[in-house]
Amino acid sequence: MQSAIPHFFSRTPWCCESRMTRRQTRDNSKGNVNRWFYACRECRSMVFDDWEGIRDGNPLCHCDEISRGQVERGDAYVFRCAKGQCRFREGFEED
Ligand SMILES: [Zn+2]
Ligand SMILES: [Zn+2]
Repeated sequence: MQSAIPHFFSRTPWCCESRMTRRQTRDNSKGNVNRWFYACRECRSMVFDDWEGIRDGNPLCHCDEISRGQVERGDAYVFRCAKGQCRFREGFEED
């Protein structure tokens, strides 16, 4: 089956010593409808498996990789580790 949305992860990420489960969002309340993500059954952490918000010029996270910009509660635009591997968090600063 083909998907128009490129995967962000080339292989399934692990969390809590087990493979994360690939799922698709159905909730439209945050504008995140039909986005693929990986979820951990143990700790409930999740990470999106697409390129939404990942752009050249985003700051590097603690893994030395381009971070993902996203809107969070309170409408703040913040950059996070795109793979959910570190606790990087940086607010958006306008020039
Ligand atoms: Zn976990
Ligand atoms: Zn990171």
